[in-house]
Amino acid sequence: MKKETGWVKWNEKTRKDAIGFCEPYKKFLSENKTERLFAESCLRIAEKKGFKPLESFRKLSSGDKFYKMNKGKLLMMGTMGKSSMKNGCRFIIAHIDSPRLDLKTIPVYQDEELCLFKTHYYGGIKKYQWLTIPLAMYATVILKNGERKEFILGEKEGDPVFCITDLLPHLGKDQMKKPLSEAFPGENLNVLVGSIPDLKSKDEKVKNNVLGILKSLAGMEEDDFLSSEFQMVPAGKLRDSGFDRGMVLGYAQDDRICSYTSFMAMMDVPAPEKTSFCMLVDQEEIGSPGATSAQSEFFRFVIEETSEKAGLATSHFRDIIQNSKAISADVNVMLDPNFKEVSDSRNAARAGCGVILSKSTGAAKGGSVEPTAEYLAFLRDLFDRNEVLWQAGEMCKLEQGGGGTVATFFARYNIDTVNCGPGVFSMHAPFELTSKADIYSTYQAYRAFYR
Ligand code: MN
Ligand code: MN
Repeated sequence: MKKETGWVKWNEKTRKDAIGFCEPYKKFLSENKTERLFAESCLRIAEKKGFKPLESFRKLSSGDKFYKMNKGKLLMMGTMGKSSMKNGCRFIIAHIDSPRLDLKTIPVYQDEELCLFKTHYYGGIKKYQWLTIPLAMYATVILKNGERKEFILGEKEGDPVFCITDLLPHLGKDQMKKPLSEAFPGENLNVLVGSIPDLKSKDEKVKNNVLGILKSLAGMEEDDFLSSEFQMVPAGKLRDSGFDRGMVLGYAQDDRICSYTSFMAMMDVPAPEKTSFCMLVDQEEIGSPGATSAQSEFFRFVIEETSEKAGLATSHFRDIIQNSKAISADVNVMLDPNFKEVSDSRNAARAGCGVILSKSTGAAKGGSVEPTAEYLAFLRDLFDRNEVLWQAGEMCKLEQGGGGTVATFFARYNIDTVNCGPGVFSMHAPFELTSKADIYSTYQAYRAFYR
């Protein structure tokens, strides 16, 4: 099967639409670099579009738009369809958490005349990529009295940034002999945060100076780190990449590329045939273990509350769920000219050739939900009828590795579920690279699915 990019297939208008779509995309991802911020900003846009808290409805009928936020980190939005929920719903699930450096519970220490923070990486990272780049700090602190303090440092012009040092090549002889997996131990990912002493304190003067600054920023003491969330992420905005500006470079496109496009698709389909849900989940990068993850019972609670308010009995849960269709909206791999050896070139997805329908993932298909041929036929037909730029793609060569998504948690309910999302270069790196044609085609695909 020959693959062509959107830049070849599309007419002038669609090419312009695709490029235009990516302007607010870059801005939104640049301004919402934590799951809390992302969920909160989506909620604010949804409210402007007429979405209301699910609990504020006594009865739900066709066209009603609602949302439910879970602990500030998991946002589920829905639009009531024309047809009864018993005939099934449409679900798109994407994750809004991304690899980053969290702080340890007791992070602050002084070594020599420097103050550092110990970090604990979140998600699968290649550790060396996080050294020597400017890092921004996002903090949410909850004091013992419940008071909430927040600050961001490193994003505004004039803000300081933070950095983890690396060894100079001149002295890297021993380091460079080691395999990458051993050359950069996690315990060495310590961020340098201060170098000027507080001359009034008795000992650990540099550390005390930093603690004093934290006190003025967030009213916090050292103990308050336990009940706080500090995230270190790459500083700076998402930017156009390439002479022709055909690509986007920036942080956390896995998986906010799917979160943003599925969210925008939900905003742009006011009257779907089937009741439709957009679910933005947390904790995917650490295996979806917690209350704000895709495995949380929160999903079931929202479906139950929605169906009850639509006048259905709790016993209809089975019908609703089993007649539903879901897209696990997550990123995929595309053939990288620098690393062709990991891809099967006949089955690999190509940059710019559109959103990827993935039949199988993982080694020996482990972690794959294996959608039925019937469901894949339904999606092919749907995408073709709606002129969605799409491609089939498998992640990698057999026995090369693999990856999981939240798909299994929905397939488990007996929902037809498929992995469908765009490709990303340098996935999980501080700066990931995507094609504007793929970003737009992902939006097209999700919009068609809701319609
Ligand atoms: Mn992902
Ligand atoms: Mn990921």
